[in-house]
Amino acid sequence: MSPLRVFNTLTARKEDFVPQTGNAVRIYACGPTVYDLIHIGNARMVIVWDVIQRYLRFSSYDVTFVRNITDIDDKIINRAKELNWRPEQVAREYTYTFWKDMHRLNVAQPDFEPRATEFIHPMISFVSNLIDIGHAYVAGGDVYFEVSTFKEYGKLKKQKLDELVTSTREQVRSQEELAELKRSPLDFALWKRANPNEPGWDSPWGRGRPGWHLECSTMIKHVLGETIDIHGGGEDLTFPHHENEIAQSESLHNKPLARYWLHNGFVQIDAEKMSKSLGNFRTVDDILQTYSPDTVRLFFLQTHYRSPVDFSSDGLAATMAGLQRLIRATQAVSQHEADYLAGQHAIDDSDFTKAVMRDFRSQFTQAMDNDFNTAAAVALLFTLADKVFQETEAEQRLSYIYALKTFSGVLGLTLEDTSHQLDNKTAEGVLNLVLSIRQTARDKKDYSTSDLIRDQLATLGIKIMDTTSGGHAWEHE
Ligand SMILES: [Zn+2]
Repeated sequence: MSPLRVFNTLTARKEDFVPQTGNAVRIYACGPTVYDLIHIGNARMVIVWDVIQRYLRFSSYDVTFVRNITDIDDKIINRAKELNWRPEQVAREYTYTFWKDMHRLNVAQPDFEPRATEFIHPMISFVSNLIDIGHAYVAGGDVYFEVSTFKEYGKLKKQKLDELVTSTREQVRSQEELAELKRSPLDFALWKRANPNEPGWDSPWGRGRPGWHLECSTMIKHVLGETIDIHGGGEDLTFPHHENEIAQSESLHNKPLARYWLHNGFVQIDAEKMSKSLGNFRTVDDILQTYSPDTVRLFFLQTHYRSPVDFSSDGLAATMAGLQRLIRATQAVSQHEADYLAGQHAIDDSDFTKAVMRDFRSQFTQAMDNDFNTAAAVALLFTLADKVFQETEAEQRLSYIYALKTFSGVLGLTLEDTSHQLDNKTAEGVLNLVLSIRQTARDKKDYSTSDLIRDQLATLGIKIMDTTSGGHAWEHE
């Protein structure tokens, strides 16, 4: 069996993947900052990591997968001000919507999902230790990491210190104020002093909150250990987020934070960068009104995770047509035939099934072992669908279907036929159509038809109220 090879951002090349200890694989992927509905760029990242961890488990690795939730951050505080909510409410609300979206996208739960606010004390110790060994300094109630004390800073981004330009994440504090506090513009906050109306925790440096980068370093240390096998995230997290995680952890532990760094590519919308200001910001919630979760997943998996993806309606429509072919293939043996054949012997036990599984497993792993080449793996699913349609014997068709479902499952595709399910928007459209037909009947004084519609809707729990103005309202019990 060829070994798994992965592209390591740290070394900028593809390498054999060798776990630190036996076949145990410890993975950490940066999770969302819960201040808004997640967008499809976030969705790509969680789907990529869902598939990576599913595939590693399929390959018999003993996986521990951790994805955090950033539930305290300047973005959350700013959003709370906008909404006139408390920051905890913002974090709670959008943690819930994130989980709901994950569930709909069939993204498996991580083994651990630590939240920043659960690790405040370990974070305070982490910062104290960095101050003690001379890597961090206190300034005006904040604590900063002194970048010049970490000689390898820039090794992930592949730039020297003097070439790096800071890009500080949304800040409650002004740039002028920051310039006065920091010894160098590259220095980044480990701890931020809290203003009186902001959330905060007591620390040796006064009341404050952790900087964003610190939480990942601390949670990795406490949940997984000082050196993990794989650290992942979106390409945009490489700098400064992951560079800063490396600086903090490696200064403190004197050992690598992660053996392999994997980053997924960007999502663009109709060839433009997705951003709130361009108005092309698409949330998962919005996309799932029109497209099934399998369509979204298949759409992303058709492209290698490191390449950029252009998210367009044409692309989604083509994916939807392809997905229909896979779903139809799974339906190519009638339930009656399948039940009969299952009565003869278990389908996964036949020599033919075993041969199909052996053959396709070897092709599937060859694709996925090549830096998780899901595009090639997806192509194999279509080959399996072709085999189903070409096969004349029902029993052998069933073997191909079994393989198709198995390998689709490794990619997290359910192949569930959703073509007969209506989303809320469509159902509402249908209801409005029925109501307008009833209105036409009433206008013609055809009360038997209008009453029939009203009564039938009532059996579905939909109550129609005719208003005095001749219109109507409805409510669903
Ligand atoms: Zn992180």
